[in-house]
Amino acid sequence: MDPSSNIVLTGFMGTGKTTVGRLLAAELGFEFVDTDAIIEDRHGPIAAIFAERGEAAFRAAEREVAAELGERTGLVVATGGRMMLDDDNVASLGRTGRVFCLVANPDEIHRRVTADAARIERPLLAGPDPRSRIIELMAERRNAYGRFTQIATDDRTPGVIAADIVAHLAADTADGTVDDVTSPAPAPAAGPPVGRDARPRMVDMTGSTYDAIAGNRDYAADFPAGHLDVRPSRRLAVITCMDSRIDVHAALGLKLGEAHVIRNAGGVVTDDVIRSVCLSQLRLDTREILVIHHTDCGIQGVEDDEILAEIEETFGERPSWRIHAFADAAEDVRRSMKRLSESPFLTLTEAISGFVFDVDTGRLEPVDG
Ligand code: ZN
Repeated sequence: MDPSSNIVLTGFMGTGKTTVGRLLAAELGFEFVDTDAIIEDRHGPIAAIFAERGEAAFRAAEREVAAELGERTGLVVATGGRMMLDDDNVASLGRTGRVFCLVANPDEIHRRVTADAARIERPLLAGPDPRSRIIELMAERRNAYGRFTQIATDDRTPGVIAADIVAHLAADTADGTVDDVTSPAPAPAAGPPVGRDARPRMVDMTGSTYDAIAGNRDYAADFPAGHLDVRPSRRLAVITCMDSRIDVHAALGLKLGEAHVIRNAGGVVTDDVIRSVCLSQLRLDTREILVIHHTDCGIQGVEDDEILAEIEETFGERPSWRIHAFADAAEDVRRSMKRLSESPFLTLTEAISGFVFDVDTGRLEPVDG
């Protein structure tokens, strides 16, 4: 790498600009600088600058630092998340620096940012819902960041990320070209994706997914450390509906490690349920089965043919699986118990009982086998 130039790292907060920058500097024998740290040395904590003097004062300080660093060489520069969204700063730093944008999935950024208590104080994420703010800010910056060479960071160690950047630099030296980053950011592509491109990708997260991740962090914070046996201590397997109003563990007074819970639409006994219960009994020593249907079930009172026709109309093909719709919950519990008792793969069963759960009262009503 030519020490008469700089390497500039940009990207959203939590993408590892500082960690990767330090490694990269050590690797190349460059000096590492962090623009936020320079500003804090001169003007005090960033949060205080925002609070007392406003964002404009912080941006002015950034422009001053960018202009200074653009005059120096042999640097690895980690920039504040918004610094390279400013065309003046890009002009200052891009003149002598090769710019890389570190990218991460929003879930990963949220995880990293919230794992670092100091960072959640960052003024741009101040507010009641930092998760939604991350999504919003990432969307706003997509095009501005997009003009720089993208370096993926998900599931990669800082060392691997630094090595990736070194490989890009070596390729630059080999072909003598560097992207012109001082031209304006490209306009956003028009319209939503269509056809196969419209399929959801794993990395596209909705607000509900973010909420789930946040909920999990709270859950994990109070999670009792320790290891439970993989074999359910009550030797029990519960088959029930996926209905959102049934909290199986709470409804049955179960704790973690006490029972298997097998759920599907209706809580019906399909071949796959038999597969699960068979493994539950054969390998994990459960012996008792509870079958629980419930009131107001989504597949109660409809006909298989009616739903299959709707599926065919919507998706253009008919599935090989049955719907297992039923008219009467208690009657279908009886049918399910019979099916379980007759399965050649469930002969280890010692007891089967059936219930209908009332979603309005939380009570389980026994069904006579
Ligand atoms: Zn249901």
